[in-house]
Amino acid sequence: AARHDAEELVSRLAGIKRSEVHLRRDRSLDEKRWAKLEPWLDRRAAGEPVQYITGRAAFRGLDLEVNPGVLIPRPETEGLVEAVLGILRAEAARWRAPRVLDLGTGSGAIALAIAAEWPGAVVTATDESEIAIATTRANAAALGLAARVRLAAGDWFSALGNGDRFEVIVANPPYIATGERSLLPRDVRDFEPDGALYSGPSGLQDTRVIVDGAPRYLVAEGVLALEVAERRAAEVASWLEGRPGWSAVRLLDDLAGRPRVMLARREGVVVGDRG
Ligand code: GLN
Repeated sequence: AARHDAEELVSRLAGIKRSEVHLRRDRSLDEKRWAKLEPWLDRRAAGEPVQYITGRAAFRGLDLEVNPGVLIPRPETEGLVEAVLGILRAEAARWRAPRVLDLGTGSGAIALAIAAEWPGAVVTATDESEIAIATTRANAAALGLAARVRLAAGDWFSALGNGDRFEVIVANPPYIATGERSLLPRDVRDFEPDGALYSGPSGLQDTRVIVDGAPRYLVAEGVLALEVAERRAAEVASWLEGRPGWSAVRLLDDLAGRPRVMLARREGVVVGDRG
């Protein structure tokens, strides 16, 4: 990890790709950049994540601006996006311009990756944090996606209008229990925003709000896609399995074989509500 971090810092300073660092041994950093590298190394040695030091993070081929007001996007969240794209692919015939909602967008990682990779998608991204909304706005503009991603400020569904409906609702909510704080690596615990990490004593407070609110905003047969904590995945799935209004509840494993994504479909006909 140290080597990877050093390469990332040097390549960002030099303005080259990380993979090019070893191919460009002929080049040296000028004095101005050396002067910047020293404090960067000090910050990294003090535990600050590389992405906050450089202000950039890679996510599914996108180069995103990040700052300590937003979570650094994670590889497992790339898997959540992959799952959503799989659904959009499977439903392409009936969902020509699928409306996709990313709740708690942070840096905008999920919303922007879906907009970039599924040109037909009409994406809405929400966040209660103004820093997150501003960061997503900047990222959308830099990536040429501003026209395709609508931003709405507010806490979970309160950011939306009453009539808003979506084919897909996706979220990577905070899901760490407050009591698990000491289990987190220092780099995460001391540097990433609490509001993006913790969700009450159970770790499930925000997931519950999203699961309970989703049916009202999903079209019939719309899909809810959530990132979940491995240790609570089965519990979250059990909230929906066999419950009226939900079907096709599935847990998907990450590359290491851990359940990290839950998918569920809103049933087609809901008595008294045709969505
Ligand atoms: N949606 C953002 C991400 O996945 C932020 C998630 C969060 O802050 N919990 O990176």
